[in-house]
Amino acid sequence: SLPLLLVAGDQLDPELPSLRDAPDEAVIALCEVAEEGRYVPHHPQKIALMFSAMRHFAARLRDAGRRVHYSALDDPDNAQTLIGEAERLAALYGCDEIRATRPGEWRLWQAMAARREASLPWRLYEDERFFTTPEDFAAWARDRRAPRLEHFYRAQRRRTGLLMDGDAPAGGHWNLDADNREPLPERLRVPRPPRHRRDAVTREVLSLVAERFDTHFGTLDAFHWPVTRRQALVDLRHFLESLLPAFGRYQDAISDAEPFLFHSRLAAALNLGLLSPREVCAAVEREYRAGRAPLNAAEGFIRQVLGWREYVRGLYWTRMPDYKRGNPRGASRGLPAFYWTGDTELRCLRRAIEMTREHAYAHHIQRLMVTGNFALLCEVAPAALCDWYLAVYADACEWVELPNTLGMVLHADGGLMGSKPYCASGKYIDRMSDHCRHCRYDPRRVTGEDACPFNSLYWRFLETHREALSGNHRMKLIYGALDRMSNDKRAAMRDQAEAFLASLDTEAAYGRGPHA
Ligand code: SF4
Repeated sequence: SLPLLLVAGDQLDPELPSLRDAPDEAVIALCEVAEEGRYVPHHPQKIALMFSAMRHFAARLRDAGRRVHYSALDDPDNAQTLIGEAERLAALYGCDEIRATRPGEWRLWQAMAARREASLPWRLYEDERFFTTPEDFAAWARDRRAPRLEHFYRAQRRRTGLLMDGDAPAGGHWNLDADNREPLPERLRVPRPPRHRRDAVTREVLSLVAERFDTHFGTLDAFHWPVTRRQALVDLRHFLESLLPAFGRYQDAISDAEPFLFHSRLAAALNLGLLSPREVCAAVEREYRAGRAPLNAAEGFIRQVLGWREYVRGLYWTRMPDYKRGNPRGASRGLPAFYWTGDTELRCLRRAIEMTREHAYAHHIQRLMVTGNFALLCEVAPAALCDWYLAVYADACEWVELPNTLGMVLHADGGLMGSKPYCASGKYIDRMSDHCRHCRYDPRRVTGEDACPFNSLYWRFLETHREALSGNHRMKLIYGALDRMSNDKRAAMRDQAEAFLASLDTEAAYGRGPHA
């Protein structure tokens, strides 16, 4: 038998079972296809990162003596869809079977699974790069009314032995999040990220992307992503040596000037397959055990990778396709047009969007508490916000983007992930960032011309959804504060919020951005 081994752009790992167990003469196919580049208007850096990493990976396989077919975007015969191109190549090489690993998207997995019995059959493999399979997750979640992260995370720690001392968590606590909420001090030196050399392959990809995707949101000048395993390891070392010690304490802080702070920015390399979650977690634990990183930093990071990342993936695969339709409050507003331009006077939003445009990156608190929080308060349709996050971040694959946006940011999964939404007023952003001192609005004011729009929107949101939220004991205090306000004050806040919303320039709901 002669199989065609399809390797998707986010599966760049020579240890994939479909590659490992195949005969030497098997044809390995890597395909750049327009379909994947265009169904949301992906940031040019995201497309360039994937194409360059794929081209480097193909070269690495060829160097190892493997037989590789690489379909470039511009090849005249390119079928321009992943499945179409794989089947075209299988016919071209006389293959009798196509082997593929579970991709990052439900729709693709379904399309592949539907071809299992085709005349040219597809054989599908589980993705072993994760700590858990969707089946493992389903078994854990079975019979649980609320499959919460914290329980899953503890089970993962026990199962893997990461940060464990026998049966107990290292240091005696499972979760040190309370130590990870410091705002930034006045003067703080943030280490510069490594600058990777742009070789001929990357330069060619950058010019192809500049030409073909020039209407997409985002610039290419600051492209700094690792496109090879070697470069990804440089980024990992930089994180361990220069960032990890301060990662925990400043994890929730936001800077008006520094886009990366002490965040690892390893998600893109992890999601593409250039790094493995196991090696990254083991390396972070080593730093802690050697006394080079505090426990709150190591634990905070390992919780993200071993806990959160696996948890959202499990939810995605076990709850799709219904998950994607979640919208319990019937939010229907289109995405504010300034998400594609940065043209807004709200400084925190402006900076998050500018950084996103420049780097295809914003750290998780910018995503959750600035762009996400604002969309939640304005009741943007989940599909519109999900498409935006999927398009603009280099690390966004649907399996991780969708639960993060729809479940965590918008609390639109029916309370599966959390019992209450992450909504916050301008006061929170003022405490955690230095944006407000550069802003024309005042985070302490709720009404009046200078009042921070987050404030009246926040109270409006709580009033509007009182019935669904006020019963939650974690919301009691805040509803108590709302109830103590005079009717006049509440009416003024509501008018302020409604006037602001009426002035927002938004796309049609479910918009897919200006260039799709
Ligand atoms: Fe953002 Fe409000 Fe602060 Fe301005 S005042 S930066 S809009 S939180």
